[in-house]
This record gives sequence, structure tokens and C-alpha cells, in this order.
Amino acid sequence: LTPLTAPPPAAPETRYNHPVGRGPRRSPGTRAGGTPLAEGSILVQKYGGSSVATPERIKAVAAHVVRTKEQGHKVVVVVSAMGENTDHLLSLARQVTPHPDRRELDMLLSVGERISMALLSMAVKALGHDAISFTGSQCGIMTNDNHFAARIVEVRPFRVQDELDRGRIVIVAGYQGTSYKREVTTLGRGGSDTTAVALAAALGAEACEIYSDVDGVYSADPRVIPEARHLPALGHGETAALALAGAKVLNAQAVQLAREKGITIHARATRDPLGRETVVRLDAPPLEP
Ligand code: ADP
Ligand code: ASP
Ligand code: MG
Repeated sequence: LTPLTAPPPAAPETRYNHPVGRGPRRSPGTRAGGTPLAEGSILVQKYGGSSVATPERIKAVAAHVVRTKEQGHKVVVVVSAMGENTDHLLSLARQVTPHPDRRELDMLLSVGERISMALLSMAVKALGHDAISFTGSQCGIMTNDNHFAARIVEVRPFRVQDELDRGRIVIVAGYQGTSYKREVTTLGRGGSDTTAVALAAALGAEACEIYSDVDGVYSADPRVIPEARHLPALGHGETAALALAGAKVLNAQAVQLAREKGITIHARATRDPLGRETVVRLDAPPLEP
């Protein structure tokens, strides 16, 4: 095996004008409070566009994924398109025609997540671990045929389960599925969060970790309101309300699905995966005014 060397920590983001707080340190794959997850449990981790925006960031994500796997967990990773790639693809379509066909848009946009999944799988393999990437269709995400805003109707994750049992890390393209007509569909903007929650539910995962450029959910957008309060624990209802009001750190549909399925979500910062987080769980204490 190639020796595993974690890349140097990413430089702190400068766009916040308040210090990013560092909560209690955890090892990867631990519950809030530090209780380790059961050996062999399935963890679903989702990394958003900014987390995989460059090859260097993809390598840093690979290192964290490998650390999680080495703790004994079965790891499923859901990725978004690199950086602003989805916007670039949409802009290409609109330069061709102001009203692109929705089926063809899905063909186009689903490519963004495919790029990320293949690159992350290569990066994990380069660290000496076995990985395999899957499109939404390959991992059994079945949707209706409402192109560009499809809803998941069923998840049949047999291939994912088989590969996890073989000891592989499974990397999944977020934001996409396949309709009963076997057409590629996409789930609406921010839909990779929904992929992660749906897979966590279908696989009976221990938890769903959503990594982005912010260390959890705040009382307001911390990029706009520097004094916004970090919220360490939230109920699904409160989180869904914040998401519907514009807190895009967690997708509203994903939170609603998590509520229905009883999935706990950990929202964390990719640049500090063991630092502070927001835990969205069914038994969260009521939010203080
Ligand atoms: P990703 O691309 O990883 O899915 P998003 O850009 O969708 O990440 O979501 C993260 C962004 O959500 C943050 O950069 C932050 O500016 C924004 N945001 C808006 N409202 C909130 C909030 N209440 N709490 C945290 N982040 C928020
Ligand atoms: N790449 C898609 C988007 O930009 C899905 C996602 O990031 O969740 O909306
Ligand atoms: Mg998002």
C-alpha cells in the first residue's frame, strides 16, 4: 500500500470576516459528543461544489474519506459538480437556445457530477484504497420523469451494497437519477444533498454528513451577516424552515426527506472536518430565541 499522507490543511477561507470557531475535535465518523459509530456501520458523506472545486481540494477530500474508511466504516461518498460547473453548463445551453429542452438539459447537467465522481475515485485509489464511482442510475436512484426537477420515487442500492461488502469506497454522482423510462433526470438545484439523504435512508446508514464551505447552519447567512449565530443542534422542522427561507447550506427537500426517514444530518466544513458542526436530529432541544 502507498503510505497515506494527509495533505497539508487547506488555507482558511478568507471570505468570512469573523473567525471560524473550532469546536471540540472529533475523529472522523464520530457522533457529536464523541461516541464512536459502530464498527462496520455505513456512513454517507456528501461534498458540495466548493469542496471539490480543484484537483487539490479533491485530493484533500480523498484523504478525509480514506481516514473515515480506516476507522472501520463502510463509506459512501456523494459529490456535486466541481465549483460553478453546473452554472457553466447551464450558461452553455442558454447560449445555444434561450429555452433548452429539459431532457437534453438533464443529459448535459448530469455530466458535472460525473466528472467529480471519477476524479475523486481516482484520487482515493491513488491513496491505496479501492473505490468505484457510480452514476445516479447505476446506484438505483429511480425518479419520476419530471426533467430538471425530478423527485426520487425509490432507491434500489444493490450495486452500492455489493461494492461496500467487497470493501470498496463507493463514490456517487449527486443530483441525478433515472426515470422509469430509463432517461437521465436531475433533482433540482442543490439536489446532491437529496441524493445523500436518500442513499443514507436506503442503506440504513448510521449518519449522513454534509460537507460544505461553512461549518454548519447559522441563524442567518454568515457570509452576509457576520454576527449570525452558529446553531449546534436543530430539529428537522426548524432546519427545513431555514432552508426554505434561503439557508442553502442544506437543501430543503433533503431535510424534509431526512425528517420522513429519521436520518440525522451532520453539517460540517470540509476545510475543518473534525471541527464544529450542526447536528440535525429528531430529538434536538428547542431552539433558544
Ligand atoms: P455546497 O455547494 O457545498 O452544497 P452551498 O453553497 O449550497 O454549498 O451552501 C453553503 C452556503 O450556504 C454557504 O457558503 C453560506 O453562505 C450559505 N448559507 C446561506 N444561509 C446560511 C445559513 N443560515 N447558515 C449557513 N450557511 C448559509
Ligand atoms: N451541482 C448541482 C447544483 O449546482 C447540485 C448540487 O450542487 O447539489 O445545483
Ligand atoms: Mg448546496
